[in-house]
Amino acid sequence: MPQHPDDLRPETVLVAGGRPDKAPGASLSTPVTFTSTYVAGGDPDYARSGNPTWSSFEEVLGALEGGTALTFSSGMGAIAAAMSLCPPGGTIVAGRHVYSGTGGLLEQLAADGRCTVLRVPVDDTPAVLDALPGAAVLWLESPSNPMMEIADLPVLCEAARSANVITVCDNTFMTPILQRPLSMGADVVVHSVTKFLAGHSDVVMGATVTADPDLHGKLLARRTLHGAVPGPMETWLALRGMRTLAVRMERGAHSAATLARRLGDHPAVSRVRYPGVGAMLSIELTGGLPAALTLEQRVAVWTNATSLGGVESLLERRRRHALEVDTVPEDLVRLAVGIEHVEDLWADLVQALEPGADPA
Ligand SMILES: *Cc1c(COP(=O)(O)O)cnc(C)c1O
Repeated sequence: MPQHPDDLRPETVLVAGGRPDKAPGASLSTPVTFTSTYVAGGDPDYARSGNPTWSSFEEVLGALEGGTALTFSSGMGAIAAAMSLCPPGGTIVAGRHVYSGTGGLLEQLAADGRCTVLRVPVDDTPAVLDALPGAAVLWLESPSNPMMEIADLPVLCEAARSANVITVCDNTFMTPILQRPLSMGADVVVHSVTKFLAGHSDVVMGATVTADPDLHGKLLARRTLHGAVPGPMETWLALRGMRTLAVRMERGAHSAATLARRLGDHPAVSRVRYPGVGAMLSIELTGGLPAALTLEQRVAVWTNATSLGGVESLLERRRRHALEVDTVPEDLVRLAVGIEHVEDLWADLVQALEPGADPA
């Protein structure tokens, strides 16, 4: 980057970072480098260890989160690498409600006898603190998926640090535009880049970020040796998508707040879970499970699909996934708010929540 990155605001870093130097005749856009190997004598020397397009993406995300970023082939690839920071036989303290894939991996590690896993409600600070002594890793999502619980990150990270516990925070829902966990004491941030960072529902990719050189070295070694590396084209798409992250988050969060307020007054909705920030919310319905199934079928502007963070608004009943835990209500519908006009999103929800009529 031509200027001191520390002087630039996140919106500007998103646009200016990870580009070629402004030499006369240089391309403005970041090239996508398709190669499997490099002429000997330089670094990297093989494309499982490094790629210039990854470096451009990593420069931008690292500057935003305040650490050194590494791209992975998926969010789960990044999560598996970070989870393997727990030594064999160690204890992972994790939120009771986390992304279902993360929960599935935790269960598998426990079932295989590799780690002990303690699940805690992340919004109950004393309960999390009680679980920390002797643990190796504290795994947090805040807000949690899909219950939208908020963890007291500064207090929990500080306690974990004094107990010698590595704190990992999944920042997929908030993105560094809204929350920077490393600045609140977390050791590692993980992302499903698939979601808000890439932002267009057309790429699967992940990332880790840490400011600790020792942890960075371990994560880099895992990426290289496990081989969960992204394709250069996916990385380029994610970088291009990320250029507009700030404006997408602003629009999505504004619309989510509007929808949360209106849904709270809607007779078909029994509960709204919106943490007051971000573009994600969950609702429960007065009509229970049948009403949730009807809502999924009747929406037209919204799409009934899993995932989140794209320009397209999506909703889904989370319990349709076998891995989702049964403390998530059967009728909970998670809404991922995109960048369409909020009145079109609202009108679609209103018609879909209308009592009586059969699903189209
Ligand atoms: C989607 C998601 C993941 C998994 O990421 P993939 O890119 O699908 O592997 C992890 N954490 C959260 C919060 C997610 O939403």
